[in-house]
Amino acid sequence: MPLTTESQELLPINIGGEMRLGGGDESATLYPATGEVVARLRAPSLADVDEAIVRADHAFRTSGWAQKKPHERAAVLHRVAALIRERAEPLAQRQRLDNGKPITETRNLVASAAATFQFFASACETLEETITPSRGDFMTMSVYEPMGVVAAITPWNSPIASEAQKVAPALAAGNAVVIKPAEATPLMALELAALCEEAGVPRGLLSVLPGRGSVIGDAITKHPLVKRVSFTGGTSTGKHIAHIAADKMMPVSLELGGKSATMVLEDADLDHAVNGVLYGIFSSSGESCIAGSRLFVARSLYAPFMERLSARAAALRVGDPADERTQMGPLITARHRESIERYVDMGLSEGASLRTGGARPEGSLYERGYYYRPTILEGVKNSDQICQQEIFGPVLVAMPFDGEDALIAQANDSVYALAAGIWTRDYKRAWRIGRAVQAGTVWINTYKQFSISTPFGGWRDSGLGREKGRLGILQYMEQKSLYWGLNEQPLAWAN
Ligand code: NAD
Repeated sequence: MPLTTESQELLPINIGGEMRLGGGDESATLYPATGEVVARLRAPSLADVDEAIVRADHAFRTSGWAQKKPHERAAVLHRVAALIRERAEPLAQRQRLDNGKPITETRNLVASAAATFQFFASACETLEETITPSRGDFMTMSVYEPMGVVAAITPWNSPIASEAQKVAPALAAGNAVVIKPAEATPLMALELAALCEEAGVPRGLLSVLPGRGSVIGDAITKHPLVKRVSFTGGTSTGKHIAHIAADKMMPVSLELGGKSATMVLEDADLDHAVNGVLYGIFSSSGESCIAGSRLFVARSLYAPFMERLSARAAALRVGDPADERTQMGPLITARHRESIERYVDMGLSEGASLRTGGARPEGSLYERGYYYRPTILEGVKNSDQICQQEIFGPVLVAMPFDGEDALIAQANDSVYALAAGIWTRDYKRAWRIGRAVQAGTVWINTYKQFSISTPFGGWRDSGLGREKGRLGILQYMEQKSLYWGLNEQPLAWAN
């Protein structure tokens, strides 16, 4: 049974402000809980990609968006936030169908998208340019200009929130934007672009170009009119994009993978730590870049802590994403679940033992969806592949540790450096470890909490650049210095 009648028809996509069928390959988005078709669409052809970018460039130069006063652009962005809030429930339900996250989570993602537009409206309206100290017969200023067409390339795990995180600051800065959503989850980007237009963003300034990354994403990245790429996704894709960006001398920001360490010290508040560790790895079914997927527990605490953690993990409510009590929904695709199963097999073949999970749940509810049980592996070394590679699923590897120095060394022994968590009542230890751990974000006695006003990004293979924060808007602007000559006489050199 199709979910909606819409799933029978091909969905138009937004090519330079025109809603029409793409000229490329047909694909379907599936509801991960049942495998049913949610919508079908055709990706853009390469000619469509070029047309969208040329139109975006035209809109950037002629629509007047870039020339609007900041408070005028901000007013439009505030309207986008208001429209997202007005349509929050249908958007959250659609997102649930698009990527199978529990409805409680998709509601949060929609709320976060609205908050992001509101925040960057304020950032836009309050951004100050500076008069710098003069060192001659001139006045000097530092100002910011929009870049032109920027690309927002996003993954499938947090649609609408990750698109908003790029589109809102890029529009606030005065740019045109082409969005390349993940192939598996194109629907929320289309919704967001429609809301932006309804709120007053000029037609053509925004396009949504779904489809295969290696084809559509690649064409967007290489296009000469694309002046910046803001990318969130896997590390190997990010490195590929960085190479292209180097050839074009194009700035790029990369939000990439992670294998984040969560550290439970001897004096941790165990109620908080157990809940935080569970939430850190198993919320979003572990399909989260900042998942706390490597657990280090003080040896003296290891046995009782793991006892509690495993029992609680086994009792997590895995199930229907439409059910408000569900804690873990299905994984995004059947293929992704197979990749997680291969990782678990790899861990077991490296000598890990299974504490809980390691299988698909049984029962009629789970027959058609891509479900997997919360899984904890132990008996591993930090150097094992299972502790070094990003799994991007509900799989936690757990290890005991002895002493702070060994803990810090192991936590930092990873190509990734996206996030970390520390559980302790000793604020001086938290400070020491928090400063010594190499990561873009460190949570102390909490985990996976977010604030749009706080910069986010990774070190090393976890990325380049920062998103969010008041200055996140500057990523999408070029800095320019203006010198105003004040000398009464012509410049003396030429006399
Ligand atoms: P992915 O790299 O396969 O795809 C991400 C996006 O890039 C998709 O839109 C895809 O179509 C596109 N893409 C793929 N190949 C491309 C190419 N050659 N040129 C241009 N674009 C291309 O990643 P994914 O599987 O969708 O997402 C999972 C990954 O994303 C994980 O590694 C996860 O850690 C990471 N992630 C990072 C963050 C962060 O903020 N650091 C947030 C969410 C997800």
